[in-house]
Amino acid sequence: MQIIKTIESLRKTLKPYKLQDKTIGLVPTMGALHSGHGALIKESVKDCDITVVSVFLNPIQFGKNEDLDKYPARLEADAKLAESLGADYVFAPSAAEMYPDGDPTTMVRNEGLEGLYCGAYRPGHFRGVLTVVSKLFIITGANRAYFGEKDYQQVFLIEKMAKDLNFDIEIHRVPIVREESGLALSSRNEYLSDEEKKNSLGIHEGLLKAKNAYSNGERRVSELRDIVLKSILSNHGMVQYVEVVCQETLQKCTGCLKDEKVTILVAAFFGKTRLIDNVQIN
Ligand code: AMP
Repeated sequence: MQIIKTIESLRKTLKPYKLQDKTIGLVPTMGALHSGHGALIKESVKDCDITVVSVFLNPIQFGKNEDLDKYPARLEADAKLAESLGADYVFAPSAAEMYPDGDPTTMVRNEGLEGLYCGAYRPGHFRGVLTVVSKLFIITGANRAYFGEKDYQQVFLIEKMAKDLNFDIEIHRVPIVREESGLALSSRNEYLSDEEKKNSLGIHEGLLKAKNAYSNGERRVSELRDIVLKSILSNHGMVQYVEVVCQETLQKCTGCLKDEKVTILVAAFFGKTRLIDNVQIN
C-alpha cells in the first residue's frame, strides 16, 4: 500500500489500471479512521480491483468557529488501517495541493437543499463537501465511490450531484456502523468526556424509541420528533434539530405520515461536541 500526496502522481499511478479496464473504488475521508470508515473500505475492496482511500481534511467545508484546527490527524495509523483492510492507495494531499490558489472561486452547490438541516447551522459546509468530492471524482476517475449513511444529507446531496452533473461514477451507500452501546462511530467521538459519551446514547435511544412508536402505529410527525427530543434533553444534550424527512426528496415531513419512506435526522451537542445521527423508520 502506497501513500500518494500529489494529484499528478495519483493520476500517473491510476492510469495503467484504467487502460486495463480495472475497476477503481474511491473512499473519501477526512482521516482519523475508525471502523465506520473501515466498512466503506471493505465494501470497496470487495467490489473493486483497486481501492483508493483519500485522507483530506477539507478546509473549505469548515466554518470559522468549527473544529478544523483540533480535528484529529494521524496519517500513519490511517494508512495502516487502510492497508490491513486491503486498500491499495491512500491519497493524502495537502490543502495547497488541492487548492493552489487558496479558496476556490468555482464551487459546486445544491441551491435547493444545501441550506436545510446541517446546512442551516453550517453555512457553506455542503458546497465545500460537493466541491471537494467533485475534485476527487475528477482526479481519480473512479468507477465507484463509497459514502456512509451516517452523513445522511451528505450522501443524498452527493447522489443528486452525480446525477445532475452526469458524473460517470456509481455512488454506494454503506449503513451506519455503531459502537456496541449504539453510539454511531465518528472521529468526533474522541472529543467526548466519559460522561458526555454516556449521555450521547440518548440520541440513538431516542431514534429507536421513535422507530418503535412508528412500528406501533404512531404517524404524527410532531410526536415522533418529540420522542427523540425528550430522549436527548433528558440526557443533557442540546438539540440543534430533529426532523422527519422524506427519503426520496429529503424534504421535511409535517402533519401525519402516510406510506412515504422517511428518515429521522438529528444533530445535537453534548458539551462542545456536535454529533449527528439518523434512523430510517420504514
Ligand atoms: P469523514 O471522515 O467523517 O468525512 O467520513 C468519511 C466517510 O465515512 C463518510 O462517507 C461518512 O459518512 C463515513 N462514515 C463516518 N462514520 C461512519 C459510521 N459510523 N458508519 C458508516 N459510515 C461512516
